[in-house]
Amino acid sequence: MGVIGLAGDQAIKALRHAQVWESVTRSFPTVAHWIDGEPISDVMPMAGILDRRRCFVIDDAPIATGVVPLGDAWACTNPSAARGFSLGIWQATLLRDAVGRHADDPVSLVVDYAGATERLLTPWFQDQNDRDRQRAAQFRALLEGRPLEPNPAHAMELALISAVRDDPEAARGWFDIFGCLALPNEVLGRPGMRDRLSAYMGRPMAPPPGPTRDELLALLGTTGRMPVAAGH
Ligand SMILES: Cc1cc2nc3c(=O)[nH]c(=O)nc-3n(C[C@H](O)[C@H](O)[C@H](O)COP(=O)(O)OP(=O)(O)OC[C@H]3O[C@@H](n4cnc5c(N)ncnc54)[C@H](O)[C@@H]3O)c2cc1C
Repeated sequence: MGVIGLAGDQAIKALRHAQVWESVTRSFPTVAHWIDGEPISDVMPMAGILDRRRCFVIDDAPIATGVVPLGDAWACTNPSAARGFSLGIWQATLLRDAVGRHADDPVSLVVDYAGATERLLTPWFQDQNDRDRQRAAQFRALLEGRPLEPNPAHAMELALISAVRDDPEAARGWFDIFGCLALPNEVLGRPGMRDRLSAYMGRPMAPPPGPTRDELLALLGTTGRMPVAAGH
């Protein structure tokens, strides 16, 4: 179980201490009971997470043969979406197919594999990248006490997320996106989906139950607004 914050939010660094982590986690009523068991380790902080993608083919020509990037070695984003295994295993099947087709031709193998990766997997990397940037902008606005800026490019997707709690089709669509079964455009293009989401456009999302920022700072043993560094 993880508590995720914005890089540069100095106050939340206190979460690396087990007692602080436990009191913060217990302040979220819908997940508090998840930590009723015996811990099997200390808190494991994780930072310096990169959004990174590697491609060994440039201008249709491989820069190396005999080596291909797979799984996290190909791309990584923040792990909160839990997509790494799905995409890694999917990509392993692309490599299997490319090897099957071009075992005797190292150049074609690398080009074929890179092309399939670009076509099928890069949209998922891009999706997560966009989502991270949206989320970081939301975090930053909340931390700085600014209203959330409307983002027309993602208005429909935000409407989908708002609708998840009371519309089963929206919920199915959202979990298809989350589970790497369908990209957002595909879900939003489903018959009737845009109509059913129109009522949710621009509607502010109700925050899940949990502490306010000031209550969180008190749990972290800190008071006052903390500076937020640029970037995420
Ligand atoms: C905290 C966290 C939670 C996550 N939760 C989920 C989740 O719920 N669902 C999900 O789908 N994904 C999740 N992920 C992502 C997922 O773990 C990764 O995407 C996935 O493990 C990538 O697989 P991989 O084989 O590419 O790399 P890895 O699993 O990292 O495997 C690489 C292996 O190579 C070994 N290695 C490294 N260097 C060398 C070397 N020089 N010689 C020999 N061996 C070496 C390493 O020890 C390691 O065993 C999570 C990631 C993190 C960090």
